[in-house]
Amino acid sequence: MALCGLWARADTVVLRNGQQLHGRVTIEGDKARIELDVGGTVVISRGEIASTVVDGPAVAATGDAIAVTPELLARLKAREETHKLIEALLDEKEPARLKAEADLAQKGREALPILRAAFASAAPVQRRHLLRILAAIGDTPSVPKIIELLRSPNDKELHAEAVKALAAIAGHDAAPLLAELLMNSKDDEVRLECLKALATLGSPFGAPFVADALRHEPLRQTALAAVARWDDPVLLPFILPLLDDTARESRERVASWLVRLINPAHALALTRLLEFYEEDKETARVLASGVNRLHKDFPVVGDIELLAAPQAAIRDRALDSLRKSQKDKKKRGNTGRDWRDLRDDAVQPRFALTAVGAVARTFLDTVASEVETSLRSPGATPPVRVSATGKPIALAPAPDARPRDGRPLLARLDREQAADPQNVRLIGLTGAELSMPGLEPALAPTRPGGAILLSLARLGEARDSVASRARRLALHALARSLGLPPCSDPTCPSSAIYTTGDLDAKSSRYCVPCKDAFTALWAAEHDIASFYYPAGATKFAAIANRTKTRDACIAAAYAFERALQPLAAIEQWKAVQAIGGEPAYVALITKRIEMLDRAERWLARKKLTASAAPPPKGRP
Ligand SMILES: [Zn+2]
Repeated sequence: MALCGLWARADTVVLRNGQQLHGRVTIEGDKARIELDVGGTVVISRGEIASTVVDGPAVAATGDAIAVTPELLARLKAREETHKLIEALLDEKEPARLKAEADLAQKGREALPILRAAFASAAPVQRRHLLRILAAIGDTPSVPKIIELLRSPNDKELHAEAVKALAAIAGHDAAPLLAELLMNSKDDEVRLECLKALATLGSPFGAPFVADALRHEPLRQTALAAVARWDDPVLLPFILPLLDDTARESRERVASWLVRLINPAHALALTRLLEFYEEDKETARVLASGVNRLHKDFPVVGDIELLAAPQAAIRDRALDSLRKSQKDKKKRGNTGRDWRDLRDDAVQPRFALTAVGAVARTFLDTVASEVETSLRSPGATPPVRVSATGKPIALAPAPDARPRDGRPLLARLDREQAADPQNVRLIGLTGAELSMPGLEPALAPTRPGGAILLSLARLGEARDSVASRARRLALHALARSLGLPPCSDPTCPSSAIYTTGDLDAKSSRYCVPCKDAFTALWAAEHDIASFYYPAGATKFAAIANRTKTRDACIAAAYAFERALQPLAAIEQWKAVQAIGGEPAYVALITKRIEMLDRAERWLARKKLTASAAPPPKGRP
């Protein structure tokens, strides 16, 4: 009998009718009990056993063959196929190996127990393919093994592949380790993969380390491409000091990055920089294109912020364009304050709902209006807005009946959310069943700060009950995305949800403590979406100061970084360090603080630190 070395660990039993069973065998009196590797137990008369391999019980013939159910046979067959494919990963020819890799990935979760066991003991060439397969399936329980591999000097040739697998499975949770390896690994290929992964994630945690990679020759080209595509102003404090690069060509390039990253919150800083670089014609030309961008991409709000520019020409042009866009004939002055009501009308911070695949617009509208009702409370300002205004996202037909991988869909929603600063959070609704690493079915995948994807597939048939459950599910996911701590009140939608039935036990509103926490977060997010960055960041800091949680401090730190206030960001990162963590994590934050300190000194030299933007007036 041909037995693959990988799976001979358990006993193999051959029955009198020729069938093979794999599992641990124990003899109890006249019966043999076989705990099958594929799950389940069969008890047979020990006389049915024709032969055994590996420490099996003694053979004692008694008579007729027994039947094994077709379902069990199918599982045994699938198991053998999986083993054959794992053996094929050793094939000398790469196409054969790649074919086996694709087939194993296609098998999905059912193959995981065997894949994990193989990963623990396979040959390096097999492990390279197994890493890709585990990544494609999204096997969270393999993450500790992958990290172990990354820490092991004996497996160097697999490290770059392991980085890719880790990022694919753990996503943003892997950012600290990716940043650590990007900074400290001796292997350029590993550093390159870490850099690519952080860039693909658009990880705010990774931003300073991606900027730092610009200084290292083997990483430089990839870092340049990553920074040029980056769309989160969290990167600003880490690239601004590069404007003083001695090479003119580099200065222009840095200026072009700035111009891409800024929004009306940075209008004043941009115009002061323009004044500073007046003599440097080419750099000034690029920075001036940023002023044009504010006019064009942020009409009204961009113009109003430019009214504070030190240059009269920029102020006049902003005022001209404001007067043109003003429909009423109100008499106004020439400061931002005189135009404040117009500014407040021009920004519409909201939670936006959108269809992912076919979801009826009327259904989206219903859920939007119900979620808004749930989140609004009388007298609270600013009022919460929820609207079905997101851009619909097409969904390719499913290849099979299994749940769809939620990762690429969520990444797509994250990008759409980042592209529209008015979308405080983007909430995608889909009729598809979803899976996420470690979670199947996944009802409402999200992460702190990220977009949300709600699956309607398990919410029932009747439209009203689906809408009612979707409403509670949206409240649950919003709590996680905004960073509310999980609630212990089982009727609160912020508390744990395991099944659709749990949703029916939830209220359609947050409990009082969660509602208060939500209101404070909405006020902070509303300021950020209105481009009042310093005010929003201060609100996040007040929340962090109350809750003292790591996530809240980090959210405040990012907000201050986006607001170009490195000193206040440093204070939050120090609070994160005080909460503690692994030495490598604490060291990364020390590095970030050093870079923020450099940014602070640079901003001070350029006189950009003094109240970069006035706090909003007449609003809470
Ligand atoms: Zn609660």
